[in-house]
Amino acid sequence: MLVSATEMLKKAHDGHYAVPAFNINNLEWTKSILKACEEMKSPVILGVSEGAAKYMCGFKNVADMVKNVHDAMVITVPVALHLDHGTYDGAKACIEAGFTSVMFDGSHYPIAENIEKSKEIIAYAHAKGISVECEVGGIGGTEDGVTSMGEVADPEECRLINDLGVDFLAAGIGNIHGVYPENWAGLNFEVLAKIQEVTNGRPLVLHGGSGIPKDQIKKAISLGVSKINVNTELQLEFAKATRQYIEEGKDRQGKGYDPRKLLAPGCEAIVNKCKAMIQDFGSDNKA
Ligand SMILES: [Zn+2]
Repeated sequence: MLVSATEMLKKAHDGHYAVPAFNINNLEWTKSILKACEEMKSPVILGVSEGAAKYMCGFKNVADMVKNVHDAMVITVPVALHLDHGTYDGAKACIEAGFTSVMFDGSHYPIAENIEKSKEIIAYAHAKGISVECEVGGIGGTEDGVTSMGEVADPEECRLINDLGVDFLAAGIGNIHGVYPENWAGLNFEVLAKIQEVTNGRPLVLHGGSGIPKDQIKKAISLGVSKINVNTELQLEFAKATRQYIEEGKDRQGKGYDPRKLLAPGCEAIVNKCKAMIQDFGSDNKA
């Protein structure tokens, strides 16, 4: 059975480690991530963007697929199925479709509207035992066309969203989605500490977890980050392994063109990367 993310993140916060939130894109991603987490005895959050859900033929299909794969693989570690960066309508649709956790991202709205919509989604989700992540918008980002720093949130706005009873909170602390630029300024720990202070020990979420140096990950966890989102890193690993298979001409040897063979090195690369990140986040043997 899939579970909400509330309990696993409370435990992670108390135990000073972070639960990985790995984004899934298809059946192969789902199987590989679950395999890695089961072998490492790590709780896991499977993130699904609205775009990825559309690609996988809708929220209902995603929820059914993940439940069936989970049962068929006899997974014993806690698994939450979570909407990543959901819209207001998307979050509601996922709650209906069988997701066990949703993110409502109202960070692009003015704060009053973000609060209003977050409040509604929290009430709607909590009535069904589903966990909710909300996001506070930030300032910063690109200067003179160069992005050296991600957005940074206002702690006071974080307090307002926190007080709605959100289960975990995403707030910019200089993190960036995708590949980090070479001149990246790093995470803003001063703001992170302030946000944790005003949110009273609420589990915090670090987005853009692909390519952040290990020492910064560790420090962020020590300051209250309990969920780290990873998407890009697994995509890069999968692409690299698949490219190597083709470049070595393996698809032309025997039945190497069989998709189950062609996609196998990429899947193995995902498993290995997940395991390494689980160790970095400290969630191994925490299931
Ligand atoms: Zn994100």
